[in-house]
This record gives sequence, structure tokens and C-alpha cells, in this order.
Amino acid sequence: MTTGTALGLSSVEAAARLERDGPNRLPAARRVSSIRRLLAEFVHFFALMLWVAGALAFIAGMPQLGLAIFVVIFVNGLFAFAQEQRAERASERLQELIPDAVSVRRDGRQISVRAADVVAGDAVLLTAGDRVPADLLIIEAEGLTIDESMLSGESVSVPLGATDPAWAGTFVVNGEAVGECVAIGEQTRLADIAELTNNVRPPKTPLAEELDRIVRTIAIMAVCVGSGFFLIALLVGTPARDGFLFAVGVTVALVPEGLLPTVTLSLAMGAQNMARQHALVRHLEAVETLGSVTFICTDKTGTLTYNRMSVAEVWSPAGVVAIDGEGYQPTAAILGDPAAIDAARLVASAARMTSRGRAVEADGEWIARGDPMEAAIDALAHRLDAVEDASIRAHFPFDPSRRRESVLTDEWLYVKGAPDALIPLVTNPDGAVFEVEARAAKGLRVLAVARRPANEVVDAISRHADPVEFETGLELLGAIGLEDPPRVEVFDALVACRRAGIKVAMLTGDHPTTARAIARRIGLLGADEMVVEGADLPADEAVLGALLDRDGVVVSRVTPADKLRIAQALQRRGHVLAMTGDGVNDGPALRTADIGVAMGRSGTDVARAAADLVLLDDNFATIVAAIAQGRGTFSNIRRFLTYHLTDNVAELTPFVLWALSGGRFPLALGVLQILCLDIGTDLLPALALGAEATADDVLNRPPEQRHLIDRSLLRRVFGVLGPTEAVVEMSAFLTVFLVAGWRPGDGFPDGRILLEASGAAFAAVVLGQMANAFACRSARRPVWRMAWWSNRLMVSAVIVEFLVLLGFLGIRPVADLLDHAPPTWPGLVVALLAVPAVWVADGWQKARRARRRTSSPRVKLEGSATQRTV
Ligand code: ADP
Ligand code: MG
Repeated sequence: MTTGTALGLSSVEAAARLERDGPNRLPAARRVSSIRRLLAEFVHFFALMLWVAGALAFIAGMPQLGLAIFVVIFVNGLFAFAQEQRAERASERLQELIPDAVSVRRDGRQISVRAADVVAGDAVLLTAGDRVPADLLIIEAEGLTIDESMLSGESVSVPLGATDPAWAGTFVVNGEAVGECVAIGEQTRLADIAELTNNVRPPKTPLAEELDRIVRTIAIMAVCVGSGFFLIALLVGTPARDGFLFAVGVTVALVPEGLLPTVTLSLAMGAQNMARQHALVRHLEAVETLGSVTFICTDKTGTLTYNRMSVAEVWSPAGVVAIDGEGYQPTAAILGDPAAIDAARLVASAARMTSRGRAVEADGEWIARGDPMEAAIDALAHRLDAVEDASIRAHFPFDPSRRRESVLTDEWLYVKGAPDALIPLVTNPDGAVFEVEARAAKGLRVLAVARRPANEVVDAISRHADPVEFETGLELLGAIGLEDPPRVEVFDALVACRRAGIKVAMLTGDHPTTARAIARRIGLLGADEMVVEGADLPADEAVLGALLDRDGVVVSRVTPADKLRIAQALQRRGHVLAMTGDGVNDGPALRTADIGVAMGRSGTDVARAAADLVLLDDNFATIVAAIAQGRGTFSNIRRFLTYHLTDNVAELTPFVLWALSGGRFPLALGVLQILCLDIGTDLLPALALGAEATADDVLNRPPEQRHLIDRSLLRRVFGVLGPTEAVVEMSAFLTVFLVAGWRPGDGFPDGRILLEASGAAFAAVVLGQMANAFACRSARRPVWRMAWWSNRLMVSAVIVEFLVLLGFLGIRPVADLLDHAPPTWPGLVVALLAVPAVWVADGWQKARRARRRTSSPRVKLEGSATQRTV
């Protein structure tokens, strides 16, 4: 487009205004006030239940219990509040890392600044895909259309011209423009609207729903079991007051108080680890979803390759010229006969007309400014000495459905684009298709270059006709072949995907032959070498899904609409899909995919806004690293679920025995002791399990089942770990009686001996949980084959747990309150056996599972890999 005369602000003036008006940022989302959120922790479903229980305890004349329950509500609420606060801050910090560069004109030059540094009066340059960074007044526009759905809620794009306002937060769908910034930050219309919508809570994600379901189920179970015990107590003639106490104890024992906030925090830690590896999630639940990805659809340029382009060959009807030079410096060896080199000059200069990328020298190094492919064209023109300047009177930018772009100068309309989108429009196509194929077969990206006299098109252009109308009847000048080296990490990342049972498909707008050559070079192409063109994809969703549901498929000449259909078809087949996208039109596909992936360096703001994951380094290997982390976080959540639930078994056992014996067998643990276990000793190790580092071998297995609690977890908790802890607990309890002279059949003594026995049972559970914390660190490896120190947090958590145990038993007033006493030596010795007992039981189960796994090799993985294809 014609560039205006405005030089923009001077950088000095811009700095002064930034100083005066502050950064261009929306007022920090007025958060639901901390007080309100803290209060909310005390009035949700559980808390209300506990309040009632506490109040009843007071009424029933048991003030210690009532008080203890209130303490539980309090500690629990604070803990949850603190965790959620931390998680929120973590995700806010992540949001700040999402790139938001804006092009502005200052000192007469186009530069890139952070959106926060835009000041009033800045000349802001917009192109398709940009987010409007502040309220602007359009000064000049070329085919500008803007999506204002952010503000209006209606998803139609509106055409804008000079003197129209463009509001902050809207997206440029098409065309380009220069606008003057009239309002920033809090003064923008967006700020008013943000003010209104800040308090709207986002919808619940599947993970949040599953957790809610788990917690609610357990809570309802707890209440039912508790009421059941109350009835039994009444039936066996226990005073209502004691019966009530039991009921409350059982209920409180079963309720997993600390679970939800621990999950949230664990997701936040996962997200932070991902950020360290250049993967930014835009909301925490994406961490978990990433772990279950089964299919990745990736684009090629920039993600599988470096997007560091250089022209390797120029073809024209006069012959082929080879360019021997990499990177963007203006020098290279030119090989070809003189006539061919002359013709190549024309091609290069025409291609450069349509190109706004430049090769520039910075600190002694030649780099691309703007699009790397366009910069490579500039470098080519310099290498061939074909730099020609003409004033550009109109520009019809590239769009992925047209797959070409053009500019109008005084003399010519120059067009460059994908060969298959251009050659059908030329009058001299002889030999071109063959030559294009020859370049593409080498893995080169090919651009065809053509022109048409300006006077033939000015009418159409002045009518603002669709470029499709006048980009015809062209004279083909030639084609250029660009080399874009594949990223070195990609090969290993693809191998990792295969091992991890994740299928990968390449969806590219590029030529099928180029796509195939690159796919083969990086080891992506499947054994059946399937390359489909977007236009040939079956219309029927089921057929499409069946066709693409295999590893190593390449879809070329793909359009954004194809991508959306592909996403839906694969999801219909049960895949959890990650899909990359960079363009304005990729928004729908990115939103539809379970994990939409956008690029941090290249690509558009639209794509980033629609994505769940942003790759700061644009690298395919980063997706795979994020999946590994997601799987790690998912296992961590299962780890502390296992840990929490095991404790529940040990806590419930005394009540069950008491009920089964009709009240004759004394209660080994009281309600207060149980509360101490749940909120005293269990808390830190559970947190430490949430921080467990991702195992190296997470990518060596097919994706996990989608459910947090499944049969194998239940078997481990209720079949192995829980019973082991319970047996040791009751043995320690009985040992104290036996050593004191009690024999089976006698009535149980009470008083001091009962207190010591209860202390022994308590110690057994705490020690068992200390051992269990280590056992839960791995789902496969027994404790003796673990790196003990690799989770430092766990070691300190367990040491603290041990000290707390000593305190609970040894500090007289505390022990009196809990209704227990330090166990006698024999009781303590048996309690200590909890440690080896848990480890042996755990090791035995892991060994058994390992044996079962090797004897029935990967039935599941095999099953999905051999799904029938059309
Ligand atoms: P990819 O999947 O490799 O990123 P794109 O969808 O970006 O592919 O591009 C598809 C094709 O369109 C390219 O192979 C190229 O031939 C053509 N093309 C891409 N960018 C431009 C441009 N700026 N001008 C002209 N043609 C382009
Ligand atoms: Mg692209």
C-alpha cells in the first residue's frame, strides 16, 4: 500500500508520553476481592457440612470436637485459599509472557514495540492477524476488515476505511492499515467492557468437572457411611452422643479435604515447568489435556523447519540458475548461463516488488526483517544485482485461500504465489509444471512469479474489485525454489511420539511434492507414504477420519476450512488432538482441537488468542516436551490421590471393626486423631508428590486413560496399600494390649493402656503414610529402586511429618487432647513395621503388574494402531 507521509512520533516524544501516560495496559482485572474468595472457602458444600457437624458437636456437649472441626474448616480454607492464590498468580505470570509485539512508525521508520509501549499519537501499522493494540483512528487502509466480535459479540468482520475507529482488542482479518492511536489502556472501549466481564467465571473444564464429581461422590459416600454408623451405634445401644461422635468421625475421615487445591497447584507447577521449556499454556487445565494427546497435526514451515529460508534455484524459460549461498547476506555464487542469469534477474526483481521482508545487517550479521521467505527474496535480488525500486500503488496481500499476493506499480501488476495457484492464470505455462515439480522434489518451496501490464487492471482496482478478478491473463516470468532446513530436534521428537503412541500428521499449505520431500527427510512420512491434497479429502466425515487416522500422513495444499474438518473428524474417532495454526483463519480449527497450538514468534495474534498452547520457540519438539510434562502432571495428581485415599482406609478401619464387633472392640482412632492425620501429617507429602519430576520414560508408553481414578488405582488403594496400613495399625493397637496381659476373649481394658494402644495405632498410620509417600512416587518402580533424593521436597516433607508425629505423641497437652499417649515399646516396634510392610506390599504389587504387562504385550496400543483404514 502507499505509505503515508506521516513519520510517526519521534522516539524521544514516544518515551516522554510513555512516561506521562503509563503503559498501554488494561487495568489489572479487578479480581474478585481476596476477602470474598477467602470467605468462599468457608461456605462451599464441604465446609457447610463441617459447620453443621461442628455445631452439633457443641450442642451434644462435646466442645473439643466442635472446636476441632472448626479448626479443620479454618486450616482447610486457608490452605485452599493459599494454593489457589499461588496457582492464579502463576497463570497470570504466564499470560504476561505471551508475545504481543506491535509495528509502529517512529522517527520515520517501522519498528516493533511491545503493545504495552504504544502511546497516544503513535502511528500503528496493522496487517491481517494483528490484534488492535489500542483505540485507533484509521488514517489509511487497504482492504481492511476487522473482526469486532470481542466487543459486539457478533462474529462478522466489518470493512473499515480512513477516519473509521478501530477498537483495541479487535482483530484484523484482512488487508492492512495505518492508524493513529487515540486512546490507550484504561481509556479504551475494551477497558469499559473488560470492567463488566471481569467477574464472569469461565466455564468448567472436563478436568474440573471430573474432580468435582470425584469429591462429591466421596463426600456423599462419607455422609452415608457416617449415618450408617450412627444407626448401628444406636442399635447396639451406644448412647446417641457417642454414636454421633462416631458418625462425624467416619464422615470427616472419608472427606478428602485438601484434594482440590492440591490439584490446582500441581497443574500450576506443571505449567511453570512447561514455560521453562518454551511452552506456554493459556489456562491451567490444558496441562492435563496435553498429557492425554493422541494425535498431533502440525504445519511445516517454522514448526518442523527453521523458517530460515534462502533461494537455491531460479527457473525461467531461459534456464535454471543455481544460487550457492545460505542465510541473508547479499553475496553468493551464481551458477548458470548468461541468458538464464539475465532472466533470473527479472524474476528476482519482480518477486521483490511484492515482498515487504528485507535482509538487513545487524551487528555484523545478516538477518531477516519481516517474513523470512520475503527476506530471502530480498537477499536474492541483491545477490543477482536486481534491486529495482518502483513506487507501490496498491498491495493485495497474501491470503491462504488465494495463496498468492500482488502489487501494482506504475507499469505492472506483479504477482507471486504458490505455483498451482498461479500457473493456471498465466498465458505462457509451457514447461512450468514440470520445472516446478523438479524443484519441489528436492524439498524446495516453490514460488511462481508473474506480471501483467498495469493499464489492464487499473479500472478493476479503482472499482475495489476482488483481486481474484484481475489476477489473470498473466505473463509467467519464472519460479524460485527456496530451501528451508528441517529443525534438527524434530527427528528425535518424532521418534518419541511414535514410542509414546502419538500419531503425527503434517498439514501444510505447501506443494505436495515439497511436503513429501520434507516429510521424508525428517522421518515423518509413514511407511505407506500417503500424501493427500486438501482438495481431494473425502467429504464424508467418517471416511475422512478413517483415511487420516494413521501415523505419518501428509496433507498438502490444505486450507483453514480443511483443517477444521480434519480436527472434527479425528476427534470423532476418539482422538485427543493437538493442532498447530498460524493464520487468521486457523482460529476455528485451533478452538476445536483439544489443544490448539499457536506460535510465539511467527503467526498471528488471532491464532494466539484462539490457542491453548503457545510455542515460544515455534518448535515442534516443544509440543512433545509439553506432552511429556502434561503426562507427568497427570501422574502426579494420581500419585497424591492414591496417597490420600490410602490414608482413608487406615482411618476407616477402626470404625468398621468397632461396628462389626457391635461396639465391643474399642475404637483404635478417635475423630480428633483422624483430623490430625488429614490436615496435619498428610498435607506436606501430598504437596511433595504434586511436585514430583516427570519421569524420563513417560513417553515410552501409550497415552494414559482419561480418568484420574480408575480400576488400577482403586485396586492399589483398597487392595494393597490401604489394607497393609490397616493391618499394621491394628496389630500395633493389639500388641499394646497383649503385652499388658490382655488375652483374646477377655474384655478390653481401658484407661492408660487404651491410650497407649491408640497412640501405637496412630504412630503406625503416620509411619505407614511416610513410607507410602515414597511408594506413591512411582507407579512402576519399587522404593528400593528409586532415586531417594531426586524429590528434595519429599524428603523434607517426610522429616516434618515425623517431627509432627513426635509432637502429637510426646507433647503432653496435645496428646491429652487427642486422647492418646506415647505407645509402649512393643507397640512402637510394631508401628515401625508399617514402613517395611508398606514397601514390601507395594514392591510386590508393582512386580506383579510388571509381570502381567510383559506377558500380555500392549494389547491396547496394538488395538488402536491397527484400526481399520479405508
Ligand atoms: P506452510 O504450511 O508451509 O506454512 P502456507 O500455507 O504458509 O504453507 O503457504 C502455502 C503456499 O502459499 C506456499 O507453499 C507458497 O507457495 C505460497 N505462499 C506462502 N506465503 C506466500 C506469500 N507471502 N506470497 C506468495 N505466496 C506465498
Ligand atoms: Mg505458513
